[in-house]
Amino acid sequence: MTWLWIRHLGGELWLRIDDLDQARVRPEYIEDIFQQLDWLGLDTDQGPRSVTAFQQSWSQQLRIERYLRALTTLKNTGELYRCICSRRQWQALVGEGGRYPRTCRHHQYSAEQPGSWRIRLPEKATVCWQNWPSGQEELDLADEMGDFVIQRRDGQVAYQLASCLDDLDWQMNLLIRGVDLRSSTAAQFRLLRLLEPKRTPPAVLHHSLLTDEGNRKFSKSDGALSLHILKKQGYAPAAIYRSCAHWQHWPEASNVQSLNDLQQSFALALKQEP
Ligand SMILES: [Zn+2]
Repeated sequence: MTWLWIRHLGGELWLRIDDLDQARVRPEYIEDIFQQLDWLGLDTDQGPRSVTAFQQSWSQQLRIERYLRALTTLKNTGELYRCICSRRQWQALVGEGGRYPRTCRHHQYSAEQPGSWRIRLPEKATVCWQNWPSGQEELDLADEMGDFVIQRRDGQVAYQLASCLDDLDWQMNLLIRGVDLRSSTAAQFRLLRLLEPKRTPPAVLHHSLLTDEGNRKFSKSDGALSLHILKKQGYAPAAIYRSCAHWQHWPEASNVQSLNDLQQSFALALKQEP
């Protein structure tokens, strides 16, 4: 979807691979990303094109100092507090899926005590952003996420902070992501406002997700239609393009034979939108 949108808009497409969590990173997983993009014929304009280039110039591990500096800035605003609860402890209080109950908020635990840093959100933390191409959207972050973690117990900065800083430093002006990431968008914009109050946040386009017949989103974790499996079963990229158009109910879906056809089907769908 990102590729289709950016190519449609004539923008520059940046590839970012998040590798903050080193326990889950393997060079072969990163190599796989390049191979899949290549197989599908999806080119990018900026960002890594190989595992070596990624490791040498684009890995988030190269930016840890930058993230930690921003963390210090945030701490100095007084908007962060030390939380010494383990996930198990606080979830026992609110149940799974509940928000962190702000237990540590009124204590002044020092940085020496093992724990994480959380953001102190007001009772109502409305974050507003500009949707692309038009319209505003807002979300109450306090309700959606609660006092979320900015630095984990093991010292790793949170994905939300790293993402916000990468977008900031690379001067992104449009974020394209799935609608399931709306609360992340709000969290990152909240951090952006604390760090760079004068910066205009990027516009956002939250696209709908591909869903199965039961209206559940396709997910890699349940093995649904992984590209590997489809490739092994002999499917060609054209079949993937066609399926994409079909699942999104775009015009001429059954005639899609190439990436170019997919782009045309996508453009037709945009024209039909009210
Ligand atoms: Zn706590």
